[in-house]
Order: sequence, then C-alpha cells, then structure tokens
Amino acid sequence: MSRSRVVVVGAGFAGFRAARTLSRTLRDEAEVVLLNPTDYFLYLPLLPQVAVGILEPRRVTVSLHDTLPRVRMVLGEARGVDLDERRVHYTDPEGTRGELAYDRLVLAVGSVNKLLPIPGVAEHAHGFRGIPEALYLRDHITRQVEMAATGTSAEVNTARRTFVVVGAGYTGTEVAAQGQLFTDDLARKQQAVGPRERPRWVLLDIADRVLPELDRRLSSTADRVLRRRGVDVRTKTSVKEATSDGVLLDDGEFIETRTVVWCVGVRPDPLVSEVGLAVERGLLLVDSKLTVPGHPEVFACGDAAAVPDLTRPGQYTPMTAQHAWRQGRVAGLNVAASLGHGEQRNYEHHDLGFAVDLGGLQAAANPLGRPLSGPLAGVMTHAYHLAAMPGNRVRVAADWMLDAVLPRQAVQLGLLSSWSVPLDTASPELARVPGTPDKEE
Ligand SMILES: Cc1cc2nc3c(=O)[nH]c(=O)nc-3n(C[C@H](O)[C@H](O)[C@H](O)COP(=O)(O)OP(=O)(O)OC[C@H]3O[C@@H](n4cnc5c(N)ncnc54)[C@H](O)[C@@H]3O)c2cc1C
Repeated sequence: MSRSRVVVVGAGFAGFRAARTLSRTLRDEAEVVLLNPTDYFLYLPLLPQVAVGILEPRRVTVSLHDTLPRVRMVLGEARGVDLDERRVHYTDPEGTRGELAYDRLVLAVGSVNKLLPIPGVAEHAHGFRGIPEALYLRDHITRQVEMAATGTSAEVNTARRTFVVVGAGYTGTEVAAQGQLFTDDLARKQQAVGPRERPRWVLLDIADRVLPELDRRLSSTADRVLRRRGVDVRTKTSVKEATSDGVLLDDGEFIETRTVVWCVGVRPDPLVSEVGLAVERGLLLVDSKLTVPGHPEVFACGDAAAVPDLTRPGQYTPMTAQHAWRQGRVAGLNVAASLGHGEQRNYEHHDLGFAVDLGGLQAAANPLGRPLSGPLAGVMTHAYHLAAMPGNRVRVAADWMLDAVLPRQAVQLGLLSSWSVPLDTASPELARVPGTPDKEE
C-alpha cells in the first residue's frame, strides 16, 4: 500500500509546527512535504532587531533541513490548488513550474503587508515582513544619517534625519523605539564632522493610543518610553499622501523625510483568494478543528485562517505568533487523526499575554495578564523570545551579548535597492531580482 502524502504550504509559525508535529506523529507512515519559498523558518518578532543592527539576519532564521530532518522540503511558492484533483501548483525559485499531489493539505501561507489606497504609499513606503525589507531598512537608515552629516543643504539634511513610521501596533512601536536609539548612536559617531541636530522619529497612528490592539497598560508604558526617548508620537493622525520628499498628514502638516516605514498591519497572502475556498474577512474559513468546511482533507491555520476563538464566542483568533504556533500543532495532530492516528481535537487557547521590546532594557509586557515594565519586562521579553525560537538561540544570545558590550557596526552593505523591496508584493520573503517577473504578472 502506498504511503499517504501530506503537503504543508508555508513554513512559518503555523506550517513549521504542523510539519514538525506530523513528522513526529506519523514518522515513516506518511510522507510530509513542506513547500516554502525559503529554506528557513523566519522568527518574525525579532525582525525589528535586524533593521536596527542588533541581530545579523541569519540569526532570526532557523534552517528547515536541520530542524525537520524527516520532512521533504520543496523550495517554491504555491500558485494555486486544484481541489478536485488534489494537487498544489507551484513555481520554484528559478521560475520552473511544478505540482504536488496530496492526500491531506495544510494551508499556512501567513500574511503580507497591508496596503491602503493612499496616493504615493506603494511607491515611497517600505514594509516589514521579511529579511530583505529589514536589511534594506538597516542600510537605508544608516545611509540617511551618514549623508545628512555631510550634505550641503540643511533642509535636505533635516529630511534625511527624519524617520516616519506609520502604524503604532507592536511592529511600528518596536521599530520607532529601537530606531531612535539606533540613529542617536549613528549620529553621535558623526558629531565631529556633521551637524548636532538629533535624528527625529515620528510614529503615527489613526487610533487614539499606541498599541491600540493590546492592553491599555502596555500602551501607556510604551507611550511613556517612546516620548521620554524623544519619539514624536502622533495619535489620531493618518497619512494623506506620500511623495519622494515626505508625507502629507491628514491635519495638513507636511513632514519632510526620505524614510516612510509602513507598519499598518497585514492582509492574508494573495494565495488565499485564489484557492476558491470560503473566506471570512479575506481569511480561509475553518471550523474549530481547523478543517475547511466541505473539504475534510484540507486544513488551514495561522494568519491566513479565520479560526473561531472558543475562548471568546463569536470572534476569531487574533493574528499572532502565539496562536499560529499552537494552531500548527493542532492542525498537525488533526491531520494525523484523519489518517488514523489519534482523535481530532478543537483549537482552544487562552491568550498568555504579549511582550513588546522597546530597545535598551525597556519593554512593555503582560505575561498571564500581569503588566510589567522597565528592565524586568526587558529581561522577560528576551527570555521569552529565546524560549519561543525553535532553534538558533545561542547565536541570538551571543549577538545580544556583543551588542551590550560593543558599539553597533555602522556600515551599509548596499545589497538591496528600494526597487528590490516593493511594499505591494505577494512575496515579502524574497527580494525582487531584475529579469524575474513579479508573481502577479
Ligand atoms: C515584524 C513583525 C513582528 C511581529 N512580532 C510579533 C510578536 O512579538 N508576537 C506575536 O505573537 N506575533 C508577532 N508578529 C505576528 C506573527 O509573526 C504572525 O502572526 C505569525 O508569523 C503568523 O504565522 P503564520 O505561520 O500564519 O505566517 P508566517 O509566519 O508569516 O509564515 C507564512 C509562511 O508561508 C510562506 N508562504 C507565503 N506564501 C506562500 C506560497 N504562496 N507558497 C508557499 N509558501 C508561502 C512564507 O514564506 C512563510 O514562510 C509579528 C509580525 C511581524 C511582521
């Protein structure tokens, strides 16, 4: 009898955990295939630390080959799913098309940058979903501070030293808080030759507080740290237009800048709308066992899925790593159960709290609902990330230690241009390369 084949699409928090659970549960009784554009799992919560030069990019990646030895890795991006023929169509990194037949399918393709219909944003802003964008930002920010030190126009120098972050969710808040420390450090190194003007970070959000989706106590801690550090926090403020010279705010003010970091949130990966399955708010609708209604052989989890939240009836689970990671495990167990190993179970998880790293030794956290701030929260946040990473912990801890005792390296490698990391992309994990058509084309 031939072995069943389970195809998992996406190796993020949900897909990685699903594949790992399946390979441990089914061992050699089924073939587990993992389709992903990169050969690594990306630990997204530490991406802001790559952009500000604390961590080298490889630190936040975990090799799929090393951690999932019994899983067959296929490098590529799914383009569509033939639900009747039970096949996934994909394109490999060299543009060759292929297909994978499946007996069970797990869709865990995550999310991409959310765009809003604001003129100029797609052209002039940069998102924050993958290593290429984080690397680009690190270089770009370094370059702006360096050029501002020697530029001949005071006006342009000020624009170069102004950084605008749109969206004060956890990503935008972390980027602004850590960015201010990073550029202060860069500017200090230029003091002997350049102007003494301090770099300015502006953090905007349409909501009335930073971290609008989190506990109010986290918001007030983050707000206090940001303002004390000198970040210009503007709530109830949005962008009306972005240009190559700056951003026009909805209150009429124009802020001259060369840097707009777009952190307004995420939308499901475009594959979701292409598979022809039921969606809820653009996400793949699943039941509490993470099965797609009408397709008991298809499961979905993580940011791409609308998963009923059994702890808050009538609502769906939030798009967080905490949920995606645990949903991946339940999806893996339920796929195994559908192949005769164990019983299917419901997905139910009570939020354990959140941790927002504000740089230095500062953080805002509420483990198990208890609000923490200051160095204690900072230590807890670092410990949490180390515990949550499925690998590479020693290297991450080593980078943190080096950063604590050595000055940060102020160099730009210039490997990526602005064109390589468009905001409007279905593949933020890959840099755009000349000669390769966009996936959408
Ligand atoms: C900068 C940042 C910081 C964050 N910080 C936190 C935090 O501190 N705490 C927290 O709880 N959450 C945090 N989040 C949110 C959290 O990272 C997501 O909720 C989580 O990654 C969702 O997991 P996922 O598996 O659904 O998607 P992802 O982790 O995004 O993984 C999706 C995977 O699918 C792959 N993929 C996409 N399209 C295709 C395709 N067509 N074919 C094949 N593979 C595909 C991608 O390459 C990726 O490997 C953060 C997010 C960002 C962007």
